[in-house]
Amino acid sequence: MQNRIARYLPIVRERFRARQFHSLFLFVTSRCNSLCRTCFYFDKLNSRDDLTYDQIRRLSETAPPFEKLWISGGEPFLRNELAEIIRHFAVNNRIRTVNLPTNGLLPDRIFRTVDRILELCPDISIDLNFSLDGLANTHDAIRGVPNNFTRTLATIEAAEKRYQSVRRLRRNVLTVITRENYHELVRLGMFLLRHGGIDGHYFEVVRGEAPDPSLKNLTADALRELHSRLMPFHRIYAKKLFANLPRAVRRIAEIYYLGNLRFHFDLHERCLESPARWPMPCTAGQTSLVVDHNGAFRACEMRGIAGRLSDFGFDVSAALKSREMRAEVEAIAEANCWCTHSCFIQDSSKFSPRVQLFEIPWAWFRQRWERYAETPLEELEQFKALEMA
Ligand code: SF4
Ligand code: SF4
Repeated sequence: MQNRIARYLPIVRERFRARQFHSLFLFVTSRCNSLCRTCFYFDKLNSRDDLTYDQIRRLSETAPPFEKLWISGGEPFLRNELAEIIRHFAVNNRIRTVNLPTNGLLPDRIFRTVDRILELCPDISIDLNFSLDGLANTHDAIRGVPNNFTRTLATIEAAEKRYQSVRRLRRNVLTVITRENYHELVRLGMFLLRHGGIDGHYFEVVRGEAPDPSLKNLTADALRELHSRLMPFHRIYAKKLFANLPRAVRRIAEIYYLGNLRFHFDLHERCLESPARWPMPCTAGQTSLVVDHNGAFRACEMRGIAGRLSDFGFDVSAALKSREMRAEVEAIAEANCWCTHSCFIQDSSKFSPRVQLFEIPWAWFRQRWERYAETPLEELEQFKALEMA
């Protein structure tokens, strides 16, 4: 039991922290085998200037210690030496968590690499996030790959069989909400819940310069209604996620988990149509850094390039302290660029006592009262049956 509680202590500790470097977003490759119409990185894909293995190793050697490595791309599993790259950050920077998104199209590569990460990095938690952007036809149409949905689902099933007993590996689905899929995401959520095999299902709003801008035609009202219908999924997954904790700890964990997710939904709704100030400063460029596949660096994925690591000998600490990055951080404070990007909402909120002590518990409280408010009766019955299961 003590071990179980100890695993969750970092979550409590994370609620109260001084502002310090916390997250590195690393585009490990530009190679990709998908053609997503939502991809904000599409104009950089499959270029020939990926960072070399030695350059990435140098990044880990020069970066300060930090908590979370967000791997990005391209399709990250197309990067050779991915496990070894993550190991450098585990050893040199003492990361605690790595986030691995995937389109799920290459099960052999994925499993070979995840096995190796588990072996090389025994102390880190892994979030393996499969992309599913709708039911079969919609998903395949958005991502431009025939049978993508079926193939990714098969990978999710195989991952469940293979990693069911590995508690430090969470298998999630990430869905990007667009004009083409928002009407069927409750059905997708139901399908995945019944299907089993995942630990969480998370939702982002399409962002950045998508190749198909029409996918961004969503209203805040439509999003608000959808979010309200998606919260019951989070409640069901939260029960599963914290099932092994003692009752009192479980309650606190659920409050922060659900409150945090509702808080994110709130900001997505507020910032969808135009920028609206977050209740905390955005700490992009101070507590986090984005490194593109070719070593260009930025404060966040939505903003322009602040500099190139090649000009700093691939020294991350030097880039973070550079005049360019200081200017960018100053510019952000005045930029009114408030966005819906969950990774940066998450990262920035960790350094705000106001958010941790007030906004998140309040969001949890509010979501209790909106419970099923927008949910049609038939859907409500299905949720109740699933909650009882
Ligand atoms: S969103 Fe990801 S999987 Fe899709 S094209 Fe872009 S990099 Fe590839
Ligand atoms: S508010 Fe959004 S766009 Fe602006 S700096 Fe932060 S993460 Fe980037």
